[in-house]
Amino acid sequence: MTYVETYLEDIWSKTKQFMKNSGYVDAIVYDTYFDESSLKDLSESKAVIVVPTQIQKVILLQETGFIVSSLKSVLDKDVDCDIYTQFEFAKRPSASLVHPNIIDNLDEDGVLSFYTFDNFVVGPSNKESHSAALACAYNPGKFYNPLFIFGNSGLGKTHLLNSIGNYVKKNYPDKRVLYTSGADFVTRVVSSIKDNSIEEFKLSMQMVDVLLMDDIQFLAGKEKSHEIFFYIFNDLVNNRRQIVLTSDRHPQEIKGLEERLISRFSSGLSVGVDSPEFETSLAILKKKMEYQSVDPTFIEDDVLAYIATNFSKDVRKLEGALNRLLFYSINFSNSGRIDFKTAVSAFKGQTAVSDKNELSANKIKRVVADYYGLTKQQLISKSRTKNIANARHIAMYLCRKHLDLPFIKIGEEFGKRDHSTVISSCDKVDKQCKNDEVFLLAIKEIERSLI
Ligand code: ADP
Ligand code: MG
Repeated sequence: MTYVETYLEDIWSKTKQFMKNSGYVDAIVYDTYFDESSLKDLSESKAVIVVPTQIQKVILLQETGFIVSSLKSVLDKDVDCDIYTQFEFAKRPSASLVHPNIIDNLDEDGVLSFYTFDNFVVGPSNKESHSAALACAYNPGKFYNPLFIFGNSGLGKTHLLNSIGNYVKKNYPDKRVLYTSGADFVTRVVSSIKDNSIEEFKLSMQMVDVLLMDDIQFLAGKEKSHEIFFYIFNDLVNNRRQIVLTSDRHPQEIKGLEERLISRFSSGLSVGVDSPEFETSLAILKKKMEYQSVDPTFIEDDVLAYIATNFSKDVRKLEGALNRLLFYSINFSNSGRIDFKTAVSAFKGQTAVSDKNELSANKIKRVVADYYGLTKQQLISKSRTKNIANARHIAMYLCRKHLDLPFIKIGEEFGKRDHSTVISSCDKVDKQCKNDEVFLLAIKEIERSLI
């Protein structure tokens, strides 16, 4: 049975229920003439009802007014009724009268097939949201309703939402899934209002078992969409259908969202996704390579580590960096593997893909301070404590090496120190790099975080 057929059946069974319970016709009359009828088509203004026999048709025609008012109780609007026998109906032209919006809504589940739990890498930054998403997919409507996933762009919310959709479609083929977005919802509301088909739109949404709505923040400030969403939301939750929502921020922080909606969201579970840590970033890169059938040894480990360190604020950028590297290596590199040198030239001048700001003395101070667990303030302070002084020397050295700043300027940057102090600090670091391998490795690691 197609979704449209199920939709029509749903409306008709509610209408029949109404007719049966109304007492307008005797039970025996209902059973004999009405019960075998079906709703075969429905437009803005017309319902097409089909019965098996001519006698049933004659009786129903006599009660058209009753049928129209019963349908109104379900659809909330007047539609005319055409009544046919099955034989007559079969000879009718076959184009459906059902509104194209509804057909779209019902036939298209919108789920993106390539986002699955199988290719989602789990780490501390997304462990909680992954586990809650899987619980909803495993047992729709049972645990968290709604499940609300929030976090910055590019951290896997859309991926998780579609993973739920794909899981449910595979494991519970009878359940109706719909993936849509806040923006799409608003568009559909607007076009349904224009076409006077808002009731049909609501009905079609109410038939969904698992509603996955991405980027709900788009509803902010859209009053009519709010109202309709609130209605659908309550109906679905009351009927134990699963709702999963995402947003770029916590529900409480979405400005222009009605209080009553926020408080309904809070009745479920809200979980955040964060930027992936180094290990998770590395695992994501490896997974993406696996999916693109790239030989795992093709990119040297320190190159992967470099990308994982510098582009991990956002998984989309991480992917972008990997793709850039693969593209670059195909076009510009002759060697069999991508080594660090190739990577550096691939990303040269590519600050646009990197999520780090341009290099500055401030940034060097921050990175070095972070590396040694100090504050920037300590770095420019008068303190001569060994670890602080050591970090300060390194930061000065890096300012000279990477920014080519005059010694005087570096002195000013580090607590108004004299330029001779800067020169001797830089010399010291330079010497130690030559004599101390561990020290050199530390410097290299800091330099990687700078790019
Ligand atoms: P969001 O919806 O939060 O903006 P997306 O779900 O669109 O982010 O993710 C951006 C890209 O990063 C997608 O290609 C997605 O597959 C990928 N991605 C994000 N998180 C992960 C993860 N944990 N494992 C694998 N891929 C991920
Ligand atoms: Mg998204």
